[in-house]
Amino acid sequence: MSFEAFNLHPSVMAGVRALGYTIPTPIQLKAIPPIMQGHDLIGLAQTGTGKTAAFALPILHRLLRGPRGRVRALIISPTRELAEQTCAAINDLGKQTGLQSIAIYGGLSMDRQIQRLRYGVEIIVACPGRLLDHLWRGTIDLSHLEILVIDEVDRMFDMGFLPDVRGILECIIHRRQTLLFSATMPDDIRRLVQEILRDPVTVQIGRTVPATTVSHALYPIKQHLKTSLLKEILRRTKTESVLIFTRTKHRAERVAQQLAKAGYRVTSLQGNMSQYQRQAALDGFRTGSFRILVATDIAARGIDILKISHVVNYDMPDTTDAYTHRIGRTGRVGKTGEAFTLVTGEDAAMVRALEQVLKAPLERRTLQSFDYTMPASDSEYNRLPR
Ligand code: AMP
Repeated sequence: MSFEAFNLHPSVMAGVRALGYTIPTPIQLKAIPPIMQGHDLIGLAQTGTGKTAAFALPILHRLLRGPRGRVRALIISPTRELAEQTCAAINDLGKQTGLQSIAIYGGLSMDRQIQRLRYGVEIIVACPGRLLDHLWRGTIDLSHLEILVIDEVDRMFDMGFLPDVRGILECIIHRRQTLLFSATMPDDIRRLVQEILRDPVTVQIGRTVPATTVSHALYPIKQHLKTSLLKEILRRTKTESVLIFTRTKHRAERVAQQLAKAGYRVTSLQGNMSQYQRQAALDGFRTGSFRILVATDIAARGIDILKISHVVNYDMPDTTDAYTHRIGRTGRVGKTGEAFTLVTGEDAAMVRALEQVLKAPLERRTLQSFDYTMPASDSEYNRLPR
């Protein structure tokens, strides 16, 4: 099936063509028709499936009719990077529509956002905290809102934003179309769904399988030797840019410090950095002045950097989907990439689950002449915050 079958407005179709989309992705096929019919919708899908266009295209189509200069669509995003990416996608797809959109998030000047809002926008893509600031100040008016999208709700929940989202929902008392996207559906989100959606259509895109352009390897190791092994792997492997994932932000910081001490050009991303610091870290990684970025899943959300040659899981992720998401950062656009995971005895169940998803056993590697018997007291792990 082609995009023509959706009967999107010609100026929206111009955006689809400009971006070179020819065949709708599965989520677009399933979600666009019910959204265009005005249904509420639950989309169980992850980034990388084409979900942004799945909601952006029907929104642009709908807003072409009706008043301009009022906020008629709102997309709530968990992170600044995702908000920026979504806003950029809407701008690209809607280039010919004349509809105006803005990304609203903290860390940037409130006054400049207010000035921009005064010119009149129809679409806002916002992170919850800063949006609430605007709502309380009365600088954003949602009384004309027609469509609300809550994107990556599970991440929003992980980051503790659900109370803010509820605060925003209290400001939109009138009936509107609501679309909610999430990769998973834990109980708290199910409750939210029951409260805010009316007769929703559910569309689900099957579990994602990690890209075939990535080769995977496990490095069995004792907890306390992880940093020593990581340094040894980095020393022996030819890499371009390396993205390392840890379970906590303290660990991300600490691992980055230890790699810096060992002479690597490394930076880390943590949730409590200012927007300026985040941007500096990301820009440095993107341009190559930092070769290694250490981050948690949440902090790394939305990073879109094409030339990552290696993803290293310093800690095993909690779910197979999180694994897929992490290693999806390498091996992009037909390039090959490598994913290394340091595994301890505690990770056995996750390894089995991963092998089921990949439908193949994962290669176990040991490093020749690395001292796997080093006692805990000699290792840097003892200084790592758990
Ligand atoms: P998303 O899951 O929305 O982040 O989209 C992932 C990537 O797929 C983005 O780079 C989109 O531009 C691209 N994309 C979305 N829909 C299509 C399509 N129908 N054909 C080709 N690429 C697409």
